[in-house]
Amino acid sequence: MSSHSTDEFSLITRFFSDIGKLGESFAEKSPITLGIGDDCAVLQLPVNQELCLSIDTLVSGVHFPEDISSYSLGCRSLAVSLSDLAAMGAEPVAFTLALTLPDSNAEWLKGFSQGLSQVANQYDIRLIGGDTTKGPLTISIQVHGLVPAGKAIKRSGARPGDIICVSGTLGDAGGALDFLHLARASSEQSDSVQYLLGRYFYPQPKVVLGQMLRDVATAAIDISDGLLADYNHIARASGVGGVFYESNIPISNELNLEMGENALSLALSAGDDYELCFCLSESAYLNLKDSAAFKSVRNIGFVTEDLGLRMIGGDGVEHVLSPKGYRHF
Ligand code: ADP
Ligand code: MG
Repeated sequence: MSSHSTDEFSLITRFFSDIGKLGESFAEKSPITLGIGDDCAVLQLPVNQELCLSIDTLVSGVHFPEDISSYSLGCRSLAVSLSDLAAMGAEPVAFTLALTLPDSNAEWLKGFSQGLSQVANQYDIRLIGGDTTKGPLTISIQVHGLVPAGKAIKRSGARPGDIICVSGTLGDAGGALDFLHLARASSEQSDSVQYLLGRYFYPQPKVVLGQMLRDVATAAIDISDGLLADYNHIARASGVGGVFYESNIPISNELNLEMGENALSLALSAGDDYELCFCLSESAYLNLKDSAAFKSVRNIGFVTEDLGLRMIGGDGVEHVLSPKGYRHF
């Protein structure tokens, strides 16, 4: 901020100076040399590791509902950023936070800080700096992760014949959008609606799976815009196409129950679940498919040399997926 009142400094100290792990084992292995309080944070990169960076901005009323609780917002903001590190196979280390606030409401900040802390502790990362400004509520989080040199999983390595997998059920968070007005009235939520809302507010970035895939996956992406849109990024970057089996697309019972025949289209086109979509050779898939790490992983199709996306329906008939189903604009 260009001009500071004492209030703004004490606000940062009070709510943001101690977020994330500081335990002894963490401190010992931590590359963080200097955290919050100076002009920059300082990281000492371990030998033969590369730094992966990703930033996401969430704007009130655009990327989250205006009446979201500050705790949920703290959890969700950090989780969605971490999902990008998961997709690269990086180990999260730290994050920075640029926070634009309409006012400094201590109650709101406390909840937000608790949400951030919850996720930061879960993934063993530390808040190491940021910026605080006044304006419409906007949150930008940049995450920093480490990956052994040359091992980051890119979008561009998928090869014809690879299996396409996803890390879990799809469409749940998209299904929750119809029920966000019930978020604060737990008495009015059925178990299945509660499950969908949980998937929207508390995404679980697949950080452990991502790191495991470093030596295995030929390409990976986290699903933030919908399976077809996001697989299409892999397809374009890799110069390939893909075929999906409709009956293999994982859909939760809860989504089926609440959304009926719309469940499949949500699973294909709704974002916000932050599962991973990745490709790997058939032999690698066969080696891993019964492992604990692959418990919720589903084989949903295969990479083709032909460009374009196709779907084999439950009836065995193949359909070309219309580009408008997976174009952003
Ligand atoms: P500068 O004016 O040098 O950019 P600031 O006065 O904005 O620094 O911030 C002071 C310190 O507080 C810095 O270390 C900065 O990283 C940290 N900081 C400011 N806002 C936040 C925030 N929202 N979350 C975490 N750290 C913050
Ligand atoms: Mg400065």
